[in-house]
Amino acid sequence: MPSIRSGIDWSRVRQQFREDYQFSMIVLFGLLAASVVTGFVIYRYAFDYYFGGTVNLMIVVSMLLVLVYALRSGETRRAGIFFCVVTVVACIASTAMFGRTGILWGYVVLWVNFLLTSRRFALAANLILMTILIIETSLFESVLEGVTYIVTALLVTTFAWIFAHRLASYQDQLMTLALQDPLTFAGNRRQMRQDLNAALEIHRRTGQAFALALIDLDHFKRINDGQGHDVGDEALKSFADAVRAAIRSVDGFYRFGGEEFVVLLRGDVPGDAEHVVRRLHQRVSGRLAFGGEVLQFSAGVAVLNSGEDWPTWLSRADRALYRAKQGGRNRIELAASPDAGGPAAASPKTGRLGADPTGAD
Ligand code: GH3
Ligand code: MG
Ligand code: MG
Repeated sequence: MPSIRSGIDWSRVRQQFREDYQFSMIVLFGLLAASVVTGFVIYRYAFDYYFGGTVNLMIVVSMLLVLVYALRSGETRRAGIFFCVVTVVACIASTAMFGRTGILWGYVVLWVNFLLTSRRFALAANLILMTILIIETSLFESVLEGVTYIVTALLVTTFAWIFAHRLASYQDQLMTLALQDPLTFAGNRRQMRQDLNAALEIHRRTGQAFALALIDLDHFKRINDGQGHDVGDEALKSFADAVRAAIRSVDGFYRFGGEEFVVLLRGDVPGDAEHVVRRLHQRVSGRLAFGGEVLQFSAGVAVLNSGEDWPTWLSRADRALYRAKQGGRNRIELAASPDAGGPAAASPKTGRLGADPTGAD
């Protein structure tokens, strides 16, 4: 729940801090840098250097403002850019005021920019900072010192770029491991839960139509029993490939478990989803065979109704799937809306996906 006084949703902040490394860097660096520079503010005021102290104070305030923006909005990308701008401007300001010591801060900024924002933006910010410091030739005592600065600053930038690149690719790999089924490369349940929640949120905000199809392969045990588990695995992989080829890139595809899959369909109008499920059934069911066993599937399809949570949505699809199995398999059944009082009368030929008697969608 958002805090009424600060407007900050601390439970969201905690979660984002754990899951979004750039966000955590912004928060940690913001707190640390603001504290350290506050020390310089106190020092300068204590020694009656008010102008320098005030410049440092402005740097602290700017950092805290960006920090509060990040905490309140959760907008990592924008907050990172703001932070990057603040650190570069602060570094230039302190170099202008305090001379060569500003260059030392510059090395921190050159590195940290890659932790705060995208590699491309950090690179641009670093080149701007380096160029401005190099133009101010009075900072360097000799040409050799200037050249040494350029070389070391470029080295720091290069290593920071490589580090950020490796970190991003490790993160991608971890995400894949955490969210993908290793056999079929479909999303796993965790990915499905995230995407269903995202769909609920989009539907709540924009009214966009969503539908999900819960798919279960028919008599899959026969393939396993007759051809062996390895052939069963191959069948699952081929099935997943065929589904991916038949759905659109905006649709989601997940392995729910065993030989059950979920397809999340989005459409401008509910009829879009109906069209996609039918096309999927036509293109995939009965088209693959393994040692004489034809791979067919049954599916239960439910259009998202306003106000329902995803387990309810999924359980409506599950009940429809049950009816499809009871009705003879290799068919699609459409789910009833929650308050329709019974199953939607539908067959693969005549069912209207999205014919919601409540009119909620
Ligand atoms: P129905 O039409 O009623 O769905 O029949 P079915 O045979 O498909 O259903 P059942 O639940 O009896 O069997 C599902 C089979 O799926 C049993 C299990 O061995 C097999 N299975 C589940 N996961 C895997 C897997 O990862 N690899 C292989 N090869 N088989 C799997
Ligand atoms: Mg099953
Ligand atoms: Mg089955």
